[in-house]
Amino acid sequence: MHLGNLLTRAANLHGDLPALIRGDVVVADHTALARRAAGLAHGLRHHLGLIPGSRVAVAMSNDPAYVEILFACWRAGLAAVPVNAKLHAREIAYILEHSGAAVVFTDGKLAATVGMAAGAITSAPRILSVDDADYARLVARDPLAQAPVSPHDLAWLFYTSGTTGRPKGAMLTHANLLAMTACHLIDVDPVLPGDRVLHAAPMSHGSGLYIIPHVAQAAGQIIPESRGFEPEELVRLFDRHRRVSMFAAPTMVHRFIHHPAVADSDDPLPGLKTIIYGGAPMYLADKTAALARLGPRLAQIYGQGESPMTITALGRDAHLQPDDEAGRARLASAGPAQWLVDVSVVDESGRPLPVGETGEVTAAGPSVMAGYWRDPDATARTLRDGRLFTGDMGALDAQGYLTLKDRSKDVIISGGSNIYPREVEEVLLDHPAVAEVSVIGAADADWGEVVVAFVVADGEGIDAAALDRLCLDRIARFKRPKRYVFVDALPKNNYGKVLKTALRTRLAEGVDERPGQPSA
Ligand code: AMP
Repeated sequence: MHLGNLLTRAANLHGDLPALIRGDVVVADHTALARRAAGLAHGLRHHLGLIPGSRVAVAMSNDPAYVEILFACWRAGLAAVPVNAKLHAREIAYILEHSGAAVVFTDGKLAATVGMAAGAITSAPRILSVDDADYARLVARDPLAQAPVSPHDLAWLFYTSGTTGRPKGAMLTHANLLAMTACHLIDVDPVLPGDRVLHAAPMSHGSGLYIIPHVAQAAGQIIPESRGFEPEELVRLFDRHRRVSMFAAPTMVHRFIHHPAVADSDDPLPGLKTIIYGGAPMYLADKTAALARLGPRLAQIYGQGESPMTITALGRDAHLQPDDEAGRARLASAGPAQWLVDVSVVDESGRPLPVGETGEVTAAGPSVMAGYWRDPDATARTLRDGRLFTGDMGALDAQGYLTLKDRSKDVIISGGSNIYPREVEEVLLDHPAVAEVSVIGAADADWGEVVVAFVVADGEGIDAAALDRLCLDRIARFKRPKRYVFVDALPKNNYGKVLKTALRTRLAEGVDERPGQPSA
């Protein structure tokens, strides 16, 4: 079994259902998509001369062509290397060189950056823009028959977002992505033929992975005209189309529900089926606000490039929890293991911990990557005894719901006690005047580390004393921030993840915008 089958099957069963949609306009049904992917597969193998297993990079903005390029690769027995379109030319060069890509697809907008990246490396890949006539000619070639592919062949080389250090290439096989697809359809968001998925988040990451379950079910892929996240455009699209799902980072959900077009609407988003959020913590206060505005149309995934979108899930029904302590804990959690995944929480020597105790989250199952590309040391550190060591800290409850704390490297150790920044962040975010917050540890001669909170205020009238009082009411004294730094924005990477390393550097360099001290 391999990914190419999914498109062939969808075209056979539902050839006339829309497959690629730009805004409101259907640009291909499933028959046409399968035909174009097979033509491009032919072009890649016989015109460009790629051999099975070659890597094909895709460094472009969201575009309907993304879908046909991925499936062309899989039909031709090649591996795709999606590259975040917002990266710097130097970062793109690193990925092109490290992956050894033979070809890179780009678009008119990014062609110059990609050209610069390719020019900086010794074995430059061939560059093809989907906006050029050459691309149209490749797609129009005779269809290639499906190349022989084993489930263990590389399908997608997924470069991690690299919040610390160089990105690593997680090797995702056909079997990995099929496991992700099955889990998605069962645990995260069931999809029917004719449904839609809307790609407002980058197709090089989570949103792009969701191309696969939607092709599998002959659902249409909507690419907004803006190619990204524009709340007003999304509101219009959720009115035009029906049964639409969308993957969004928690920061996008926050912005979306507070945008006047959503916040002030009487009939919010009639076409929205599910917003699937994940990739970073979504705080309880944000989940509650999103549920109040959208109703039970939210699903959460917890995954990482190494087990893409597939470790645990909190489905739509699981968002309907009683408003008591246990219910709130469930809602704050990342849900139970997805059905093909075995999740455990282990101590420092890798032994499973009892219910309720916090340790490193590990996962095993068919969605877990084959290893890191050309990095056996990192592979050996991360995959041990058949388990993926995620680097995330968490605790399981008696029913297997996983509450995530933090990345292990973000845990603060102050006076010998572990402090999980997320716990402090959850409390601070409950203050109505706090828009965003990130808590880190700062080196301290007496305590080892002390807690520092970077706060983005939502309007005026907030000070350190008020936040300190809130913490005193809700968490142990030793967990309270010793210092608040009020900032206009938090540093984030291209996927919207807060860069705690950048905050640490900022503190170490003594950059201190509008500092505040707790009163006591
Ligand atoms: P990436 O490999 O770039 O997708 O990043 C994966 C990391 O994002 C995980 O290891 C977690 O630290 C974080 N993450 C992913 N999903 C969630 C979630 N639902 N809640 C909290 N953190 C998450």
